[in-house]
Amino acid sequence: MKQTVRKRKLPTKTYVGFGLSMLDRAVKESFAIRCRVIDLDEVERFFSSDGHLHCAYCDVADAERWDHLHPVSQGGDTVPGNLVPACRRCDDSKQDRTIEEWALSMSTHRPQQEKLAAIQERLKSYRERFAYHPRQFEQKLNAQQRVAYERFREKLHELRELLREHSLVK
Ligand SMILES: [Zn+2]
Repeated sequence: MKQTVRKRKLPTKTYVGFGLSMLDRAVKESFAIRCRVIDLDEVERFFSSDGHLHCAYCDVADAERWDHLHPVSQGGDTVPGNLVPACRRCDDSKQDRTIEEWALSMSTHRPQQEKLAAIQERLKSYRERFAYHPRQFEQKLNAQQRVAYERFREKLHELRELLREHSLVK
């Protein structure tokens, strides 16, 4: 009798470098505008057809995540006009980059040049429907907040150096 061996996996490891970038992201996100769940109804309708939510990038009818067009790490907000549904594959591949940066990256699942125009076209009508004006993160801060954020960045840099000394981060 043939026996099938289930592919076994270890639990996902949390890397120190990832933890550091998450900390920076969390601080940036605390300055971001955050909509209510109900505000996403219209966004879902915009990207839905035949009862399925489509990925804004590859159009697959299996979008299960929200992606920020203007990434949180660059000052993006969690609001209609900046949030788009994305499939797991595109979301993991795009990471915290703009579409333009993503398309120029070496990521395996980056959008191909010939598909890029169609994506930009779809997003253009989306942006017209939900007005959102992205700002770079530093532009969102007042003078006092900018000083506080600079201090935080210095501390984070020190922490990274300390962790590097102990070979815990590259
Ligand atoms: Zn996709």
